[in-house]
Amino acid sequence: MTLRFSVLASGSTGNAVYVETEEQRLLIDAGLSGKKMDELFQRINRDPKELNGILVSHEHSDHIKGVGIFARKHKLPIYANEKTWKAMEGQLGTIATDQKFTFATGEVKTFGNIDVESFGVSHDAAEPMFFTFHHEGRKLVLATDMGYVSDRIKGTIDKADIFIFESNHDMNMLRMGRYPWSVKRRILSDVGHVSNEDAALALSDVIGDNTSRIYLAHLSLDNNMKDLARLSVEQVLKEQGMAIGEQFELYDTDPQNPTALAVV
Ligand SMILES: [Zn+2]
Ligand SMILES: [Zn+2]
Repeated sequence: MTLRFSVLASGSTGNAVYVETEEQRLLIDAGLSGKKMDELFQRINRDPKELNGILVSHEHSDHIKGVGIFARKHKLPIYANEKTWKAMEGQLGTIATDQKFTFATGEVKTFGNIDVESFGVSHDAAEPMFFTFHHEGRKLVLATDMGYVSDRIKGTIDKADIFIFESNHDMNMLRMGRYPWSVKRRILSDVGHVSNEDAALALSDVIGDNTSRIYLAHLSLDNNMKDLARLSVEQVLKEQGMAIGEQFELYDTDPQNPTALAVV
């Protein structure tokens, strides 16, 4: 049995990640329109009707835009913690009671043969959380939308096989860019987003011998570029004595295009 995944879309225009084994299929966030979500599933050759559930990280629209419509259309259960449910409920449209489930922060929930561990992150939402997926000794981490990467988070995500990790902005592009100061301050704050450099520093603490791939995620359209993110992360990791291309590979994610389904 293998664990597979695809980052369907990533960035402030919408986020969605797909995780599967032969018997379980999970979607994490659906931050694009229902139509676009269907298209993304087509692109990876999967039928959304076969999903076992949608896990929601937090109520920001780039994570929930398509949750209501997708859940209704394909009759899917939705999992979120109580505060996130409260914060997003008004934006989802009508959801049948038998499609609503609670997934508390810090809880480990078993979906068939996948154990999903949630962990809280520091971000300006009601109670944001992200996830580690465990299957037959393999470990996949999804962690974006973080103001900073705490030691507690590092303990949870340590030595994963795969990291899908926020690398939101280049510090200089953000500083020099056209955003109003209030927005800049929010992004840079403890409840904002992780920069390329901070992503790399955090990753250097948690990369293990079995880490094979790192996907840089939630890249800002205005304050980052794929090449710049990759180069910045690569440079910091190199300084920490880590050899990209030998120990592990760095991958992009895209706001519109899914990454190829890959085995963890
Ligand atoms: Zn986001
Ligand atoms: Zn967010």
